[in-house]
Amino acid sequence: MSSPEFCIADNNHNVEHPAEETVPPVLGQRSTRQRKLIYDILKSSNDHLSVEDLYRRARDIDSRVSLSTVYRTISLLKEASLVDELIFEDDRRCYEFKRGNGYQHHHIRCLSCGNIIEFQTDYARRLRDKVAEEMGFSVESLKIDVAGYCEACATR
Ligand SMILES: [Zn+2]
Ligand SMILES: [Zn+2]
Repeated sequence: MSSPEFCIADNNHNVEHPAEETVPPVLGQRSTRQRKLIYDILKSSNDHLSVEDLYRRARDIDSRVSLSTVYRTISLLKEASLVDELIFEDDRRCYEFKRGNGYQHHHIRCLSCGNIIEFQTDYARRLRDKVAEEMGFSVESLKIDVAGYCEACATR
């Protein structure tokens, strides 16, 4: 995979966050500390976190966090387009905080260890252009998801 068409996405691409953080209004007027905690975990992570991952991390910090709070917070953040939901073929779902600057990326997932690697390619843009040009279709979304076995798992 040394083709220049691909590049492994830089996970440290995060935009600088302003020093003082305010709770986004989407979390509700009387936004609870627990919702804010889940928001912070998602925002500060470069990872793709499942509900269980989030729940576990939140509980490590505040044992009062409930699973329903995790679900509720995710759904609020999704509605506000602050968080992206990735849905894989086996219906496993992961969440990642949207990064700024229109950062577009795709995912490769290992079916054995579950590792998720981000990558960037201009195939997506070219396909979008092609569909627009040849079919007069205005593309709103396009997904490229790759599943398989990572090098370590494939050689095991
Ligand atoms: Zn693997
Ligand atoms: Zn990602």
